[in-house]
Parts: sequence; C-alpha cells; structure tokens
Amino acid sequence: MTIGIVGAGQLGRMMALAGYPLGLDFLFLDPAAGSPAGQVAPQLQQAFTDPQALQQLAAASQVLTIDWENVSVPALKALAKGKGKGRGTRICPPVTAIAAAQDRVSEKKLFDKLDIPTTRWRAVDSLKDLQRAAHAIGLPGVLKTRRMGYDGKGQFVLRGPDDIQRAWDALGAVPLLYEEMVPFDFEVSVIGVRSTRGETAVYPLNRNFHHDGILRLTRAPHGAPTLQRLAGRYIDRALGALRYTGVLTIEFFVRHGRLIANEMAPRVHNSGHWTIEGAQTSQFENHLRAILGLPLGATHARGHSAMINLIGTMPEQSRVLAHPDLHLHDYGKEPRPGRKLGHVTLVESTALRCERRSRTLMAELVPGTPIP
Ligand code: AMP
Repeated sequence: MTIGIVGAGQLGRMMALAGYPLGLDFLFLDPAAGSPAGQVAPQLQQAFTDPQALQQLAAASQVLTIDWENVSVPALKALAKGKGKGRGTRICPPVTAIAAAQDRVSEKKLFDKLDIPTTRWRAVDSLKDLQRAAHAIGLPGVLKTRRMGYDGKGQFVLRGPDDIQRAWDALGAVPLLYEEMVPFDFEVSVIGVRSTRGETAVYPLNRNFHHDGILRLTRAPHGAPTLQRLAGRYIDRALGALRYTGVLTIEFFVRHGRLIANEMAPRVHNSGHWTIEGAQTSQFENHLRAILGLPLGATHARGHSAMINLIGTMPEQSRVLAHPDLHLHDYGKEPRPGRKLGHVTLVESTALRCERRSRTLMAELVPGTPIP
C-alpha cells in the first residue's frame, strides 16, 4: 500500500521511517532535489502545484497526505473533484482543515467559532486598518502575515506608536493580522489524532521553549492535569468539528493557568518528535494509522522526554553518540543559518532528571542558545 505525501521534508521522512515497519510504501512530491524524505523514499521532483504531478501522485497512492500545510488548496480541490488519473484518492487531513490552517484569519475565526480561547485579533489590509487595530487592541502587539508564516517569519512586534508605520513598511505588501502581545507564562502544544473511523486519541502536553520564533526545546509530558484536560477538550472539539483525519496540533500560550490558542498545524509537529522514543506510539505512526482507518496506538508517555532541535549547524555525530542514551535524528539537510537540521531526544525516568540533563545537553550540543 502506497501513501502519497505532498512535501518531502523531515516530517515526511519521519513518516516514511515510521511506516516501513507497517509494510507501507511512500511516494513524495517536492520540487527540491536531495530532500530529507527523498533520501529514504521515491520522489516526484515537480512543483507542488503541478496538476499532472499531483494526479500522478494520487493515482499511485491509496491515500494522500501532507508534510507541510502551505500546499495549493485549489490544486488539491481540483484533484478531489477532477476526472481521470488519481480522481477520488482520499486526501487527509480534509482540504477544509488545511485551508483553515493556511490563513491566520480563518484559523482565528475557527478558534472563535469553537469557543477555544485565542488572542484578540483584527484583519489588516491597509495602514488605516493597522492604526485602528493598534488602537482597539492596544500596544504592544504583533503584526503577522496571514499566510506562509512559520518559525516566527513574517512577524513584526510593535512596542509603541512609532512602530505602526515601520511594521506596515516591513509587511504591508500582503494581507495581515494584528493581535495582542501575550505576556505568557510559558508555551505548550497539544497533539491529537482522529482516524477515518472517528477514533480519537490525545498525547500528553508538550512544554515548548522558543528563541527568535523557532522551537528549541520541548519537554513532555508537561504534568499539569487541569491544563491537560482543557487542551484535550479543545483539540477534541477541533478534531470533531473539522471531521478531521490524521494528526492535528494546537499551540497555546499559558497565562495565569489559562490556555490561549496561538495557532494550529494540520499535521505532525516538531513539538511531537519526542514521541518516537518517548511515547508508546509515535505521532508519525498514529498519523498513518489514522489516515488508513487502522486502530490507533496508545499515546501515553514512556518516561520524561526532552527533544532538542539542532538548528543551523550539526554537532559532531560522535559527540552526540558519546551519550549512550541519546537518540540522534539527522534529517540529511545542507546546513544553513536558522534551518532545522536534526534533533536529539532524551528519555529519563523522572521530570527533574530530564530537566537537568536537557540543560547540560543544550549547553554542550547547541552552545549559544539560551537555556530555559
Ligand atoms: P508563531 O509563528 O505564530 O507560532 O510565533 C512563533 C513564536 O513567537 C510563538 O511561539 C511565540 O513564542 C511568539 N509569539 C507569536 N505571537 C505572539 C503573541 N501574540 N504574543 C506573544 N508571543 C508571540
């Protein structure tokens, strides 16, 4: 059975590596040569929007899924409706969910509709809109591009009135969203999964540490039963309302014990990489089980995990492996500043040991990154 995946990054690579033991095959679509997933599975090296390549992918696959959310929704819709090769191949998650997650305004509307608390926000299409939004919501605030924002890209923090013009000059060429700046206590994310049969499961909460808008460290489970229950309720609501299939992630700010949704990702997520070694079933395997209508695997943690992202440069492999209990994941990418090249996972028997060791490991393996 072949799974077709649009996007051949590290998420796709880890999906394929999780799927091989289940006897699955994979075919990727991505214009990039030497992609992380293309190193472990066949790849159609064509544009994401190429209708013929999409048809070819669909025709060769039992089910289509994605490894990044900014795929062309019109192209996917045309594929779902189209005639001929590849017609009728199921797309997971549903295209409506992918579309909602591509646009920060649709995402906020969805959170509002589902009664999932989120930041106060306004759509911004002109300098006047931004002035009004800053006045209504207040400063400081964050101006974000509605589309194609990730890892803090396409964002401008406005600290005072002088920044309004500056932010507009920096980002005003595209549709935007202005939202309040949340003085959060910390950040968490929740990963849920729903199968084509409607079975759902939720992973333990991830506590996430960002620097310069990029995730640096995740520790899980974040043992806070009230937050876990609340996050579970929110993600269940989203999974049900979207008639979702596959893995869905919601990122939250935590302030005074409340969860405030920041954004969602209609896919496996960087904050869930620890589940490969640290949970009974990884997020990658559960995504595949879900989209194939197979029973879901247990999502409980097998200890206390820390996942450290390797960004920009890779530490020497022998240095990482000198720690006999560390798990190294090298995505096979060319180093570039700010690029996610790999990660390491540590599983410890107690939360305290996990916290201490993740600190010393960060100092050794990713020097220069602030240590939480
Ligand atoms: P995003 O790309 O929206 O996930 O933003 C990346 C990171 O920037 C978040 O994980 C936060 O650390 C920070 N950030 C984004 N939006 C806000 C906000 N409204 N208030 C405070 N911090 C934010």
